[in-house]
Amino acid sequence: MERPVTEADLTFEHVPETDQSFENALAKARNGDRLTVDDAIELLTTGTDSEGIVRRRKERVLEAADRRRAEEVGEEVTFIANLNNNVTTACNVGCLFCNFKDAAHTFERETEIETAGFTKTPAESREIVADAVERGIYEVTSVSGLHPAFALDDDHRELLETHPNPKEINYKPPEAYETSPGTYTDQIAAMSVDDVHVHSMTPEEVYHARRGTDWDYEEVYSRLKDAGLDTVPGTAAEILVEEVREVICPGKISTDGWLEAMEAAASVGFDMTATIMYGHVENEAHRAMHLQRVRDLQDRTGAITEFVPLSFIHQNTPLFEHDVVAGGASTDEDELMIAVSRLFLDNIEHIQSSWVKYGDEHGLKLLNCGADDYMGTILSEEITKRAGGGYGEFRSFADYVEMITSIGRVPVERSTDYETRRVIDPDEPPFGPQLGPNADGTPLLTREERETRASRSAK
Ligand code: SF4
Repeated sequence: MERPVTEADLTFEHVPETDQSFENALAKARNGDRLTVDDAIELLTTGTDSEGIVRRRKERVLEAADRRRAEEVGEEVTFIANLNNNVTTACNVGCLFCNFKDAAHTFERETEIETAGFTKTPAESREIVADAVERGIYEVTSVSGLHPAFALDDDHRELLETHPNPKEINYKPPEAYETSPGTYTDQIAAMSVDDVHVHSMTPEEVYHARRGTDWDYEEVYSRLKDAGLDTVPGTAAEILVEEVREVICPGKISTDGWLEAMEAAASVGFDMTATIMYGHVENEAHRAMHLQRVRDLQDRTGAITEFVPLSFIHQNTPLFEHDVVAGGASTDEDELMIAVSRLFLDNIEHIQSSWVKYGDEHGLKLLNCGADDYMGTILSEEITKRAGGGYGEFRSFADYVEMITSIGRVPVERSTDYETRRVIDPDEPPFGPQLGPNADGTPLLTREERETRASRSAK
């Protein structure tokens, strides 16, 4: 940690206080009226007139959200056959909620320190994606650390090489490192195997991909589109309120920068997701303000296909290790976050429950609190695992069918944009993906492969 977080840092201007009442806010939510930030605060806190969560009130909020979910998207629960391919863990940004990163100097040729991280070349990324596509996946999600040698493309590399102060812009040439990640466009092109859908380049990565230039975000996203990028993950949002970002990720893209990059992605024609990472130092006022910023963004762009609440995984993070937080969100807070997202974001159709963050049991419960999407098969996951998450790295189609039918809902395989769907008949095993170029219904992994992975994950 660069500078210890002090009490003063955690004394926020925005606090959960309103002139609204819980009952009024709930009545508005039930009527389908557009909610205000104050309404959202009342629902997230189950009323600012009482301390802590009031269980009976919470159940009423969850019920309203579950009913709204049923009205808007019905009984289907969607999921996707996808692969996570993180290119590199090298990063110098130093976000305090993150244990994915490894200090970039540990990757250098000259260092004595053996890095605990990894960097993949474009050829290595291609091989990993090609293997997964062969098995039947049709979406690759890729989010990476901001490796100092990463450039957008050859033009960008040229500008970075001649920059008068490379350190100031977090640049070091590829030769300084044991393994070079290449350029972003090379990586995107390499991962575009057989028309697989490439979901990558968060606002933070695009910020890195234009450092040291006066290029706007449209320019950068256009070049990435030409390289094969299909959609954009709206991660790196964390909490879109500056006083929180200053504590948990002072080196990261600002709220305005994040919104600007997302608008640019939409203007270039990308569909995108949006996220919130909650349960650390922020309070319910910040969560509500975040929801409003996302809803406003969607009013302007209409390009957000789903909203993904991400509960903070605290175990191995600097925030927890330095006693800034005592843990993450409670299960009550998770349920209310999902529910209020459904009720507040009246312009975003899908709300995701993430088994990586919540586990199976709690993840399923959240599908009854307003969520309707249960993410994807993933195949490999590093970000949450490194932060201390313990829910594994893979769910098979058979797992999905069993879990979703166990709560009386309908399992549906979907494409990234939700446009193509296939309802799965639980009486017709075996279950495997069918929507991808090589998806013929065969399960993604054989039983032996699954067992090997499970024992590796347990270790
Ligand atoms: S969250 Fe991303 S930008 Fe921040 S330290 Fe981790 S890898 Fe780097």
